[in-house]
Amino acid sequence: MMQQIIVIGAGIVGISTALELQRRGHSVRVFDRSGVAAETSAGNAGAFAFTEVEPLATPGIMRKAPKWLLDPLGPLSIPPAYALKIAPWMLRFWRASRADRYQKLLGAQVSLMQHSSAALTRQIALVDGEARMQRDGQMQLYESEAEYRASLPTWELRRRHGIDFELLESREAIAERQPGLSPRFTHAGFTPNWMNTIDPKAWTEHLVQAFRDRGGQIETHEVLNLTPIENGVRVTLANGTVDADHVVLSAGAWSHHLAQTLGDHIPLETERGYNTTLPEGAFDLRMHLTFSGHGFVASRINNGVRIGGAVELGGLTLPPNFKRAETLLDKARQFLPGLNTEGGTQWMGFRPSLPDSIPVIGPSPGAPNVIYAFGHGHLGLTQSAGTAEIVATLIDGQAPPIPTTPFAANRF
Ligand SMILES: Cc1cc2nc3c(=O)[nH]c(=O)nc-3n(C[C@H](O)[C@H](O)[C@H](O)COP(=O)(O)OP(=O)(O)OC[C@H]3O[C@@H](n4cnc5c(N)ncnc54)[C@H](O)[C@@H]3O)c2cc1C
Repeated sequence: MMQQIIVIGAGIVGISTALELQRRGHSVRVFDRSGVAAETSAGNAGAFAFTEVEPLATPGIMRKAPKWLLDPLGPLSIPPAYALKIAPWMLRFWRASRADRYQKLLGAQVSLMQHSSAALTRQIALVDGEARMQRDGQMQLYESEAEYRASLPTWELRRRHGIDFELLESREAIAERQPGLSPRFTHAGFTPNWMNTIDPKAWTEHLVQAFRDRGGQIETHEVLNLTPIENGVRVTLANGTVDADHVVLSAGAWSHHLAQTLGDHIPLETERGYNTTLPEGAFDLRMHLTFSGHGFVASRINNGVRIGGAVELGGLTLPPNFKRAETLLDKARQFLPGLNTEGGTQWMGFRPSLPDSIPVIGPSPGAPNVIYAFGHGHLGLTQSAGTAEIVATLIDGQAPPIPTTPFAANRF
């Protein structure tokens, strides 16, 4: 039965969901306070990272984290002004890293990744999107035999879950795949099926075009409040209210504010990330490169190069510290000696992150006609098409393609 649905948030998760609901015959409006891909979905690294199945909270991570925190511009940082606020989230993160929890989260992440990969194939076909994809693979680089050996259990994990890869154990083998790297990289793992979009903002806009071509509407509204009503939901805006049969809440790192208006307290935080996008000609980048020990990546965006990563647990309101983007660029210059670092554009984005590394996908406990779809952290682009299909089956009252219990909002 056709339903009136409002999707809150025109990032990659909201737009993918709107498109899938529209495909199933529903009447869909998307509300965003700023516009299409105005936030985190604009400037990410553009990777569909289906190989990255391991949750961030791995057993033993809390022993390593203090070392990373010693360098204030290192891969992980907590601004002093935010240290107390982030403490409860860190405690939950630590709990998620305990061996029994970790195994369950790993299982959930694997199933979401496998489903998302298949869903992306369907989405690309739906919107005729192949021309926006780059299927060049990815290389994770290591600087010593010891660092490489330490990574092998994670590669074994990938093997167990059917992920294709090749381990490269010499500088020559690395240079065959990507010339111009510093000789400091001695070993690597190459994942041939890794893919990237040419530009994550342009990809979201491409999906929006398909949505509009089929009669969908994107409207500029800030949503202030959600209230359950009989058989539906009331959405409060600055200039009035709109009722719908269902609401999908996909407002990225701001979603918990609206969940709170329904009485749901979800421990969503943001892992802020930084990057610099260099223009075409900056470097002959043949594939996505991951500098594992340094927490950043290089990806090809519109034939330029985007150097980015880092995790700053600094909340939604502190000003950005673009020294982080500069630090990553300095390192990239050492790792890719021919890199031309002139003419770059800096960016900071708010990864929407839950402490157990997997998103919330499912109904609000107090308002079942509100479906939550947020908290994808480092993997929102990767899991967007998969999330969209899960949300759509829940709204249609069908069995979801994967078990959704691990993603429930009441798990915290
Ligand atoms: C440096 C960096 C690199 C990354 N690289 C990758 C990568 O390579 N691959 C990958 O899969 N992921 C990556 N990510 C993560 C990915 O970008 C995010 O997980 C994803 O963009 C989240 O999408 P979203 O739609 O949930 O949120 P957003 O894109 O943030 O969209 C949320 C939208 O909601 C709107 N909104 C918020 N509150 C309201 C309100 N009250 N009313 C109306 N509108 C509202 C906002 O305006 C915004 O447009 C990266 C992130 C960063 C920071």
